Amino acid sequence: HYNFCAGPAALPTPVLERAREELLDYQGRGLSVMEMSHRSPEFVAIAERAEADLRELLAIPDDYRVLFLQGGASLQFAMLPMNLLGSGGSANFLHTGIWAKKAIAEAEHLGYPVHVAASSESNGHVRVPRQEEIVLSADAAYLHYTANETIGGLAFDYVPQARRPDGSEVPLVCDMSSSILSGPIDVSRFGVIYAGAQKNVGPAGLTLVIVRDDLLGTAVPGTPTLFDYRALADAGSMVNTPPTFAWYLAGLVFQWLKHDIGGLEAMAAINAGKAGTLYSAIDASGFYSNPIAVPNRSSMNVPFVLADEQLNEAFLAEADRAGLLNLKGHRSVGGMRASLYNAVPAAGVDALVDFMSDFEHRRG
Ligand code: PLP
Repeated sequence: HYNFCAGPAALPTPVLERAREELLDYQGRGLSVMEMSHRSPEFVAIAERAEADLRELLAIPDDYRVLFLQGGASLQFAMLPMNLLGSGGSANFLHTGIWAKKAIAEAEHLGYPVHVAASSESNGHVRVPRQEEIVLSADAAYLHYTANETIGGLAFDYVPQARRPDGSEVPLVCDMSSSILSGPIDVSRFGVIYAGAQKNVGPAGLTLVIVRDDLLGTAVPGTPTLFDYRALADAGSMVNTPPTFAWYLAGLVFQWLKHDIGGLEAMAAINAGKAGTLYSAIDASGFYSNPIAVPNRSSMNVPFVLADEQLNEAFLAEADRAGLLNLKGHRSVGGMRASLYNAVPAAGVDALVDFMSDFEHRRG
């Protein structure tokens, strides 16, 4: 079976096998990782190893902290303005689809000043705004964007510059929930990178935040301790009990990326091959289509529609019977979506393309 779920997503089989082996007895301790104190030497070693491996994979510079939090990426929609607007100013956003919109809505909900610096709404979110179209407000405190819109299948093909009209630079904040670890990134371009874990990192329940040191300690007064990056960083993400088992599994995923895959350059090459296979099949067919401008097509989430919507249910049922799981598009947009996260092997995409071609010949 191949799992194309957008999240929680497939995990690498060797990771699940290792977790199964260690489930009842972690390295001869006679305990499961789930049963260990987060302050025990065994767990602290697991936590530190995971952070060190993530730092190595992403080449995270020393002046960034890595936080292992709870609450999902959605809680970051609130924590970001709370932590970054302590000195005033407004939150600036690039609006590129449903996830960007949720981030904007949460900042507004909390009463913070918001400015949309560019939007792809007018083109139906099929092309990301170009750098020249991005106009920050004079009081911008930071610029937030969504590297990969998981539902729309729209991805940035460049890292935006975040400059106010007077030319001064503000921190760039990026939601990388559905693209982190799919390939190398230059962390030094960002003030904050965050991601819900449940796509490329590990199981749901863990959220990664990578934050530059100079952005700690500027939270608005009254920010709860558990939402304050400074407090979380000072406590090594252990202000309270962290999601220990998810943290451990993320660590196994980082090991898999390092040792089984060979790092993020190798991962990116595999992902490009997978996405290329599926988009080529879609483009070569008169039956399947994807609306996104080619440079902004996501390599992680590939939405597509059938020429005849009446066949949607049959497509999904037959795919499921063929072991191709979770291809139904997001409830807000319909159609199909194949998520090709790191743990989906190239063979899974080959099987999907074969099935699609066969279905088209029989039913199209
Ligand atoms: N941002 C993006 C790009 C996402 O894809 C998702 C979830 O799919 C979220 C945010 C919300 O993540 P969470 O469910 O961890 O709050």
